[in-house]
Amino acid sequence: MLASPQPAATSTPTPTAAIATASDLDFDVRYHPDGQLFVGDLVSFEVIAPPGVDLEGKDVTIRVGNISQQDLAQSGFSSFGIGQRPQATFNWVWDTSGLDEGKYYLRFSILPGHFTWIETVDLLPQQAIPPPEPRAHWETVESECCVVHYITGTDAAQDLEDLLAQADALGEQAVSSMGTEFSDPIPITVLPRVLGHGGFAGDEIYISYLDDNYAGNDFSQVLHHEMVHILDGRLGGDLRPSLLVEGLAVYLSGGHFKKEPLYSCAAALLDLGLYIPLASLADSFYTSQHEIGYLEGAAFIKFLVDEYGWDAYEAFYRGITSHPSGKQSQAIDAALQSNFGVTLAQIEGRFTAHLDRQHRIPDMIEDVRLTVIYYDTVRRYQQLLDPSAYFLTAWLPQGAEMRERGIVADYLRHPQLPENVSIESILLQADSHLRAGDYLKTEKALFAVNSLLGKIEASRADALIAVSGETTSFP
Ligand SMILES: [Zn+2]
Repeated sequence: MLASPQPAATSTPTPTAAIATASDLDFDVRYHPDGQLFVGDLVSFEVIAPPGVDLEGKDVTIRVGNISQQDLAQSGFSSFGIGQRPQATFNWVWDTSGLDEGKYYLRFSILPGHFTWIETVDLLPQQAIPPPEPRAHWETVESECCVVHYITGTDAAQDLEDLLAQADALGEQAVSSMGTEFSDPIPITVLPRVLGHGGFAGDEIYISYLDDNYAGNDFSQVLHHEMVHILDGRLGGDLRPSLLVEGLAVYLSGGHFKKEPLYSCAAALLDLGLYIPLASLADSFYTSQHEIGYLEGAAFIKFLVDEYGWDAYEAFYRGITSHPSGKQSQAIDAALQSNFGVTLAQIEGRFTAHLDRQHRIPDMIEDVRLTVIYYDTVRRYQQLLDPSAYFLTAWLPQGAEMRERGIVADYLRHPQLPENVSIESILLQADSHLRAGDYLKTEKALFAVNSLLGKIEASRADALIAVSGETTSFP
């Protein structure tokens, strides 16, 4: 198997075939920054293990074959991203400044065992780096609520004043809805490319801001969601189950990717036969269908708050502790029993009966159905043609270190092959039709994207069959 095959990419790293013949040891290598590499880049690598291989005690080494007899770096395998993908990750280990443009051979070895393969990389001339990158750099600005880091020359820099005003207004809403205060400013790193669904939150917020966001163009909705995560994290709790963490962010920001009536959305899930029972959703939240899980979590929290009041909900939520089974569903069940005297199954019965009684809003079923398909299509596109953006394994290096080292390329560059450009443009149309309630046009656009993705998948499968068994020698 080849590493991230990129059809028609003349200067994208193109791996050659492995020396070893063991076909079950095909490691996938991803290069960063994404897309083409240029002289001066600080290059990172992800060496992704084939499924099911025992990597205990194994290391990867990388050597630039035609300029050095020394390894660039050595790393073991560990779990990466929300998806915990097993891989060896090398952050900014190959400094190409001062090198000549042209072809370089990279030798990857798995030790012990001496399994080795060669990949070739074309370094393009530094002058060919497209704008705004050559002059782009990090800037930091403070507002009432937040410390915002952005890259100059990007859409965020252009719209900075408006962006800061939105952040302050949303910050105000978020703190008042949670009954808390600002302690420290909220750190926000603005990404000029799409990663995941456009927002991540840990100790700080990473959020996509670009005119053409193919993962849904509602910046303020995503920012509000991520702000709730930061404030929620600061309020703490022994175990905050993922279902309730994400549900809370959707509930308090009034919708997932847009403002929406949560009970009606969840009722539509029931009508569509898409409803996931809460216990199984709680136990595998991030690998369950994303939009369904988030909407259900939010509607469930709304139901608990409507039944018992916000203060009682808060006491229940912050008091949830780990269950000996390790299951988040059991932890929620135990806390429901001790706080409200009901089991998860009992309250779910009342919750779904309440949804059944909801007045159905015309179009809500189509809206929910197409939202699910839209984001499934976005993720299918990312996995196939923009894999560093896929949320479970997104390439999201630490903003603080990037700023310290003056690195902008990892966030500025993204795949821009003709198929990326055309598919992203159809996704943008689909998003805009969906938000306008034009469901027929939405469905047609999504059908077009999925047809294109299907053709690309089929041609890659053919290409893999064609190259299997090829070998090459180390120069
Ligand atoms: Zn979230």
